[in-house]
Amino acid sequence: MESTSENVRYDVAIIGAGIVGSALTMALGERGLRTVALDIDLAGRLGSSERNAGGVRATWWQPVNIVLCRASIEYYAKVAAEVGFRQKGYLWLYDQQTWPGALAHLDLQRELGHPIDELTPEQVTQRVPEIDRLDGIAGATFAPRDGLINPNLLKQHYRDRSRAMGATYIDRVFIDAIEPQSDEVVLNCWQADESLPEDGLMRLMSQDARQTEPELGRIFNLRADRAAICCGAWSPNIIRLLGIETPTEAVRRQVCLVDSRVTDLSAYGMIVDTSGLYFHNEGPHILAGYSPPQEPPGYCFKYDGEQFFLNEIWPRLYARMSCMERLRHVTGWAGLYAVSPDRSAIMGRLGPRLFEAHSFSGRGVMQSYGAGQALADLIARGSYGRLKADDLARERFTSGRLVTEELHI
Ligand SMILES: Cc1cc2nc3c(=O)[nH]c(=O)nc-3n(C[C@H](O)[C@H](O)[C@H](O)COP(=O)(O)OP(=O)(O)OC[C@H]3O[C@@H](n4cnc5c(N)ncnc54)[C@H](O)[C@@H]3O)c2cc1C
Repeated sequence: MESTSENVRYDVAIIGAGIVGSALTMALGERGLRTVALDIDLAGRLGSSERNAGGVRATWWQPVNIVLCRASIEYYAKVAAEVGFRQKGYLWLYDQQTWPGALAHLDLQRELGHPIDELTPEQVTQRVPEIDRLDGIAGATFAPRDGLINPNLLKQHYRDRSRAMGATYIDRVFIDAIEPQSDEVVLNCWQADESLPEDGLMRLMSQDARQTEPELGRIFNLRADRAAICCGAWSPNIIRLLGIETPTEAVRRQVCLVDSRVTDLSAYGMIVDTSGLYFHNEGPHILAGYSPPQEPPGYCFKYDGEQFFLNEIWPRLYARMSCMERLRHVTGWAGLYAVSPDRSAIMGRLGPRLFEAHSFSGRGVMQSYGAGQALADLIARGSYGRLKADDLARERFTSGRLVTEELHI
């Protein structure tokens, strides 16, 4: 198959246009850079941005995570109607073991501009009367500016805004090679003629070079001044094209929708139980998720269905709220967390003219705006601006300056 060259030379090429790549594309457009975003599947069928719980919080223990999420929250509040942002707060319940850690971080959170209240178990019941079983609750926090968002609307918002500023999105593109030169980056691209089926996508995305797909489509070279890799849990595969290993693992996470005839949680935002269960109202349903600590790494999208609901969700909901006795499992799904060794994102320089932003674990939606703005400054100006994210550079895994995020679910 003959290779052609695109006539256009871009300022920046983004590889992977999930919520993070799309936020970065918008931020680069705001800085006047001509940007192209390439994705093997713009619909994101195997991406995480289509499969998350929509929680948005700055309730974190690591300063960089608080700062980036706080910046996101400020922005989401400005465009709330467009992206379905409901600032109903995060209520987080702690047990004896975790409560001292929560208390120890309140000052830091407040200093960084994140208002947060501390509650006794009795105040938890006053705030949410449905929580009538207080066993094991040592204390709780409530952060009123946190909330819930519609991630699909948010991703679309980033894409619409960036397109309006001149960005181009190209679908069905897989990168065969990344060639950094002294004055540009050349991407060897393959574009499929048609959208691939999910098993084809899975084969392609989980390998680090295109070995198995038929030679249908077109091969072309795309040139850009700089490139950034934002492929979520699939990022280690594409970064391996550069001979660089990334210590991130894909880990399956499951959530389900359930119905209760008697309980209406629509007045509340996200609630996180001492057991690690998280839940919130979702339209006519309740969305609930739990991440078993023993989940092995791997690109697994299998939803365990009724068994997941019966074994992991229902017992935890009912143990906390007697009104949850009768629930109906409606549906559910599995998606991937991209988990780095310290559970914070990996973002920054990857090499001369190359950048990266991935491994956001359960934080990619809520951190996307802040991360996109921060990285766009680094790409456009050579250094971080108002939002500093130096702590997230991959060098921390060799220097030992880890950004271990304990408030992880
Ligand atoms: C069950 C679950 C619940 C979650 N809950 C929350 C939550 O409440 N709040 C929150 O903030 N986060 C949550 N998350 C995490 C959040 O969804 C992710 O952190 C976020 O979506 C990551 O976005 P991304 O753009 O980095 O990756 P993705 O959305 O995975 O996007 C990566 C893109 O790269 C493309 N791609 C991959 N490989 C290639 C390649 N080789 N060539 C071209 N394109 C490629 C893919 O097609 C995809 O579009 C949850 C995740 C799960 C699974």
